[in-house]
Amino acid sequence: MATQRTVAFHTLGCKLNYAESSSIGKLFLRAGYAEVPFHESSDLYVINTCSVTDQADRKCRKAVRMALRLNPGARIIVVGCYAQLKPAEIASIPGVSAVLGAAEKFDILRYIDPPGIDPLHVRTHSLPIGQLTEFVPGHSIEGRTRSFLKIQDGCNYKCTYCTIPLARGRSRSGSLEMLVETVRSLARSGVREIVLTGVNIGDYRDPESPARFLQLVRAFDKTEEPCRFRISSIEPNLCSDALIDFVFSSQKFMPHFHMPLQSGDDTVLARMQRRYPSALYADRVARIRSEDPYACIGADVIVGFPGEEDAHFQNSYEFIRDLELSYLHVFSYSERTNTPAADMACSIPPSVRRERSQMLRILSGKMKRSFYEKQAGSLHEVLFESAGADGLLEGWTRNYLRVAAPLNPEATNCLVRVKLDVLRPDCVYASLPAPERNDGLFESSCTRVLV
Ligand code: SF4
Repeated sequence: MATQRTVAFHTLGCKLNYAESSSIGKLFLRAGYAEVPFHESSDLYVINTCSVTDQADRKCRKAVRMALRLNPGARIIVVGCYAQLKPAEIASIPGVSAVLGAAEKFDILRYIDPPGIDPLHVRTHSLPIGQLTEFVPGHSIEGRTRSFLKIQDGCNYKCTYCTIPLARGRSRSGSLEMLVETVRSLARSGVREIVLTGVNIGDYRDPESPARFLQLVRAFDKTEEPCRFRISSIEPNLCSDALIDFVFSSQKFMPHFHMPLQSGDDTVLARMQRRYPSALYADRVARIRSEDPYACIGADVIVGFPGEEDAHFQNSYEFIRDLELSYLHVFSYSERTNTPAADMACSIPPSVRRERSQMLRILSGKMKRSFYEKQAGSLHEVLFESAGADGLLEGWTRNYLRVAAPLNPEATNCLVRVKLDVLRPDCVYASLPAPERNDGLFESSCTRVLV
């Protein structure tokens, strides 16, 4: 009897990549492969790369070395953003069998062992990015509670530091009808939280109707299956009043906004070609806060962009400090080939980038602590996901506080109302409220009484 061929995946980068690895994995399963963990010997390894940081090359080489250690005869296929951007560079890594671009990765089976090809000859296949027009759907599932659903891909913006439009092409979206059906089937399979994922999801456009992002989220809101939603990240200029009002009127959409800011200084924002001034960002935050002072608002910030002088950084720091955000994701600027910013004058020394990054990380820690502390003693509905190392069950509140509580594992995948008690370094320790206060606090989506 022929043994079943095996495939293993290693995914780098964002949740969109994870959703796409999952789609590629399904192609292999349908073709009769068995998926094994990446740390096991496999016939085939697929490495799905990212190009956002300058570590892509190092991480990709490391993954290739690891795969070869596990099985020196394995076929190694590299896909993803880095593969689209630098196919020749990847093809030169010893051990790589094939490099597939943004379109070809979804047709991966065609490129494995085609007849008449010398297996030692590294093959690279990638369409020019301008020819990429197809939207390939996908979703990944974490544990059994949460799914990352790809609703959109690519980007039409031209932020001067960004390679994503070069790696993923122009903006395109899945059809509203297909996405609603996927949401319903995920919820029916037991998923309780769906995170809407893409490159620029606020730019969603249904290819079959005039519907945009607001109509899509309204359609998700109307689904009857028990499931809640999170908007992964939305550009501030696309975070409209109507969208904010919708989120606060919905029971299913969580009061959690992640809006990339990148800089709080208008000169730097203009050099980055971002589509908003800092005042618009502040206005969006104020609008959200006026609806709910405890909504979670997170931001991405890049430090050390070319020409970011001390005064610009100071402006940016003070702007962010005064905003009342809940957390920051801080990135040190890194030069990316073929982007306008890489050719800009006034590069910032790496030591200054590191120093500024450290300052903002400290500020982010303070913001996060204050966000948690302000809510100490309050009751929150938590969707519990899995047990941590200490045996406590961990989950997330509606407004994205990470909570650990002494609950029976049966509470996994259920909504439970808890009281926030002690702040720990990365989460809040919570207890169950007194039974008389817990009446009716279990949501209908929870199938059992848990205490
Ligand atoms: S909005 Fe700007 S930073 Fe974001 S993917 Fe598009 S070009 Fe890149």
